[in-house]
Amino acid sequence: MHAIVVFSHGGPDVLEYAEVKDPEPGIGELLVRPVRIGVNYIDTYFREGLYPRETPYIPGDEGAGVVVTVGTGVSEFAPGDRVAWCRAESSYAQYVRVPAAHAVRVPDELSDEVAASALLQGMTAHYLVNDTHRAVPGDYVLVHAGAGGVGQLLIQMCVHNGFKVIATTSTEDKADIARARGAQAVLRYEDASPETIKRMSDGGVATVFDGVGASTFNNSLASLRARGTMVLYGAASGPVPPFDIQRLNSGGSLQLTRPTLAHFISTREEFLDRAGDVLGALARGELTLDVGATFPLSEAARAHRALQSRATTGSIVLDPLA
Ligand code: NDP
Repeated sequence: MHAIVVFSHGGPDVLEYAEVKDPEPGIGELLVRPVRIGVNYIDTYFREGLYPRETPYIPGDEGAGVVVTVGTGVSEFAPGDRVAWCRAESSYAQYVRVPAAHAVRVPDELSDEVAASALLQGMTAHYLVNDTHRAVPGDYVLVHAGAGGVGQLLIQMCVHNGFKVIATTSTEDKADIARARGAQAVLRYEDASPETIKRMSDGGVATVFDGVGASTFNNSLASLRARGTMVLYGAASGPVPPFDIQRLNSGGSLQLTRPTLAHFISTREEFLDRAGDVLGALARGELTLDVGATFPLSEAARAHRALQSRATTGSIVLDPLA
């Protein structure tokens, strides 16, 4: 089969399209033929070596496709099932080994491209909004990168929970998208000073959802009201340097959390609950997932370049057959 292989860490050009051995499903695994493969910002952290991963490796975490065969011990799935998955390594490929515990059947109403990018970003938005902070209906929250893959879903889930959303984006076109998802106000980063945010939110937001990291962290902390929560969940602009914990005290007894999806889908039951909520909301049309771009698998480098140069909105998928 063909797959994208990273032989050494680096920029997008290290994503090489190569012929590799077909995988075989192990115990508790499915062998799946992806129809679409999800591209996520975390794929760039592994590619660059910011997160550790031994080379050579095939990148990619999620996708949607059809089960080809099942390994020993799998009773929940059968060949021919239409599934989506996340947390399966080596998904940028024409065949993927998927732990059955990280797969779910796709509702008929959902396209492959939506299903391929729904789980990682959707379940992330789901746990961030529901399980990491203490805002209540009517409270203001701040969502950075509101037109991004996770950002658009976060805004919608915050609005669903009754929060008033202030979002940031880098361009006016992206601001329109964030507004369309339900943000009450959208600011460019340079206009989103803590003073402005505090004025707009009656003294400070209850929660900041910050996946941008280095360039937004300081202003995010300073935009919180007393006892607010800083939810730092990513580093699109780079990792946040070490900081003085005393700032949480002087900022108003603030809370800071740095969560990651794996700990919020740690059992099969929790995975199915979250996946069911996200896929169900998408199937019923209560949640919109905007697939902003599709690239051939062989052009994964172009997809990473677009993502890291802030040229994309919504989620990005790869087509393994194009
Ligand atoms: P996005 O589609 O949101 O793309 C990243 C966005 O970040 C860009 O579009 C851009 O939007 C914004 N951004 C701001 N500064 C920069 C910069 N210097 N370089 C590049 N982008 C920048 O990506 P994803 O939806 O895949 O991921 C969003 C975040 O969520 C990432 O940080 C990712 O690591 C994190 N994440 C965390 C998880 C967790 O459990 N902790 C799980 C999944 C994702 P704009 O142009 O509007 O600024």
